[in-house]
Amino acid sequence: MHMLTSLALNDFSIAESLLDICLQLTDAGMDDDSAALVSSDGVLVCSAAAWQLHSLALVNVQQLQQLRQLSVRGYLLADARDIRSRLHDADAARQRLHQPNPLHLDHTRAQQALEDLVEQALQRDASDIHLLFDQQQASLAFRVHGRMVGRVARSRETLAAAIAAALNTRSDDFHELFDEQRLSSASINLNLVMHGQPQRIRLRVQKSPTRNGFAVTMRIQCEQPQVANLQQLGLAPSLVAQLQQVLRQPAGLIIVAGPTGQGKTTTLAALNQELPRSYKVISLEDPIEIIQPHIEQKPVLAEHPELNFANMVKVALREDPDVISISEIRDSATAKAAYTAALTGHLVTATIHAHDCFGVLQRLFDLGVSAAALAQPGVLRAILAQRLVASACIDCQGNGCTRCDQSGVGGRRVMVELLVADRALCRALREERLPELRDSLIESGWQALDSQLQESSPCV
Ligand SMILES: [Zn+2]
Repeated sequence: MHMLTSLALNDFSIAESLLDICLQLTDAGMDDDSAALVSSDGVLVCSAAAWQLHSLALVNVQQLQQLRQLSVRGYLLADARDIRSRLHDADAARQRLHQPNPLHLDHTRAQQALEDLVEQALQRDASDIHLLFDQQQASLAFRVHGRMVGRVARSRETLAAAIAAALNTRSDDFHELFDEQRLSSASINLNLVMHGQPQRIRLRVQKSPTRNGFAVTMRIQCEQPQVANLQQLGLAPSLVAQLQQVLRQPAGLIIVAGPTGQGKTTTLAALNQELPRSYKVISLEDPIEIIQPHIEQKPVLAEHPELNFANMVKVALREDPDVISISEIRDSATAKAAYTAALTGHLVTATIHAHDCFGVLQRLFDLGVSAAALAQPGVLRAILAQRLVASACIDCQGNGCTRCDQSGVGGRRVMVELLVADRALCRALREERLPELRDSLIESGWQALDSQLQESSPCV
């Protein structure tokens, strides 16, 4: 039987006369993912579980359908989540007609609406859920592989109630009453079942008022049990070998660079996983995003007078580490603390916000670490600059299909340039001849990020 996508299902209008019986069946079937609806032109749409587990109930729906003189025109399959969302939206719209000031949605249903929304996002491999509420409706979109896709209009009541219920009951750091007109941020923990596997999800929710409503952005963080290693990131074997060699050095700075949202944190975690198990690794992070086994991960608050990066590096240095990892160097005090740690015989892995490898050097100079300081043997080990670029959808080869929401993008792959600190780099640092070094590197075949990016389309 044909399987409907959520976008296609959104175009179905629901038979009002059968809304109640479909809601009954679907609300009773939340646990086993049974759901069914009848469209106003007589098509019975149900989930696979409803066919298998509740065929009698479905026969009832069809009989009622005939009694209401709606001829049975066909059968279609759809995802239970998508069916539930449509039914709940239709019910909320109906309630609105009879009750001008609603937002009294059944609590279980509100919770379910949020879970459905997050599962829809996970199925698309989305990183964020975007909701824009005006007085009439909620506009929903997902960010998938860096692009906004799947924009649909949903019921304002259903989704506002879902957000309110989640914030009021499931958040560990939301301590106020839900108010559309207030700026608030909170975290929500969810336990979901995806593809038969239990998943723990953390949602970072940001809510802010807009001109005629409010906006909610939810960043999805999966608690990944396994950190990707360097091979799994998709780096070329020769690059992996070079990085592994750098990580065997006893001391020095290893820096991962790139703009925001380009996978620096993932790469940093992968580098840390390559370190020998016998090492004591202290990782300072704001916030902790990826659980890394065998590593002492400590939360840091970048703006805090005491718990900031620079101070926490000093504390870590007194705790006899082999390696200190800094999730982001973004101020002068942290840059100098990282330099001191490297100078005193520690390996330091860190990320920094910069365009490319030579941009990192300039950024370090700006933060007060001089070229002469970096030119000392063993202080700087390597800089890896990276960018995520779009890779074509396998199903449609980039032409656009339902699987990729017509974007043509199937995923993202990492593109890097690696600068290993050698004598030539130290000399160029001392003699302030970095542009000349970069030119000669490119002449000898070094793969600069800029030239690689020109050959592919960057991901937004
Ligand atoms: Zn496609």
